[in-house]
Amino acid sequence: MKKYKLAYSKGIATEPVISKVSIETKALINILSGSITERGGELIVSIEGDDQQIRSAISSIRGERVEVQPIKKTLELDQNRCVDCGYCGTVCPTSAIIVHADGSIEILDEGCVGCGLCVTACPRRALSIKEA
Ligand code: SF4
Ligand code: SF4
Repeated sequence: MKKYKLAYSKGIATEPVISKVSIETKALINILSGSITERGGELIVSIEGDDQQIRSAISSIRGERVEVQPIKKTLELDQNRCVDCGYCGTVCPTSAIIVHADGSIEILDEGCVGCGLCVTACPRRALSIKEA
């Protein structure tokens, strides 16, 4: 599974690009976050499939005049700094941080879009974003 940022311009924003490309290529395209109005916007998506399906999906999305950029960021946790307060889990827009009953966290790499909100929110500076 790989993650991408899709940028929609005004003219294409109301078109069902993702469903059309999913049907065409049989790649599984999952919207993780973002928003679009009729004036355009951005979506963060994951694309699942074999390499050929993923390449075809990206090519088809670009063919629909939507910009596609791969997301290569990963979130890292410094366990020595983390105090299990669970606060980072409350700010994540994609629910990529699971907070367990004891306050400890679990990062779901597949859901993280590298937005950095949790990095800023952490009072202990225990989180950081790395370029993959
Ligand atoms: S906000 Fe920071 S200290 Fe608190 S659980 Fe998250 S990583 Fe750990
Ligand atoms: S960087 Fe943090 S807040 Fe942003 S998606 Fe990843 S886990 Fe969630």
